[in-house]
Amino acid sequence: MGRILIVEDERAIADIVAFNLNREGYESEIALDGTRGLSLALEEEFDLILLDVMLPGLDGWEVLKALREQKTTPVIMLTAREEELDKIHGLELGADDYITKPFSMNELKARIKANLRRVEYAKTAPSPTTEGLTVDRSLMRVCKDGRVLELTAREYALLVFLYDHRGSVFSREQLLEQVWEFDGFLGDLRVVDVMVRRLREKVEDDPGNPVLIRTKRGAGYYMEG
Ligand code: CA
Repeated sequence: MGRILIVEDERAIADIVAFNLNREGYESEIALDGTRGLSLALEEEFDLILLDVMLPGLDGWEVLKALREQKTTPVIMLTAREEELDKIHGLELGADDYITKPFSMNELKARIKANLRRVEYAKTAPSPTTEGLTVDRSLMRVCKDGRVLELTAREYALLVFLYDHRGSVFSREQLLEQVWEFDGFLGDLRVVDVMVRRLREKVEDDPGNPVLIRTKRGAGYYMEG
């Protein structure tokens, strides 16, 4: 099913999450502080990381930033309501998703499933190629002019989604629904803009003048057909 790292300093929360995940068939590991969480995340292989923001040692943002310098493991941030504004900050640092505390176990399991499913889908769908861009789905790797791009699972999913549907314009709502799988839940639309901006910085020759991921003013984003 998958191996999940839980980085959470509140023992009671960490334990109940681990208990529920284990019951679903996941294997889980707990780190009670940021320093330990980061070293586990770097040394071992996880399919997904649940990362609390307020942590002793390194906080969640510091862990995420250091992790992203080396690995693209999907990360779901666990944020408290008052940290709402920081969600965008987290996405800019390379988080794939976030869930607001307090969350229900069903909500958490659904987010985990959606994130793991996206990684699976990305591995099995056929490989697209477009000017200078090659996508190797088995490795979830994108090369630009022969150079490997470091993309997070979410950036990869967005790029592949737009590629698979090139020629069609998608609104931010549609992308939230399709790529983030926010079923019927109206997420923060800026999340999409942040992700597109980050992706452009990685795939475009001139991010300020994008040719691969285009903006249709007032409508959304698309890739040329
Ligand atoms: Ca905490």
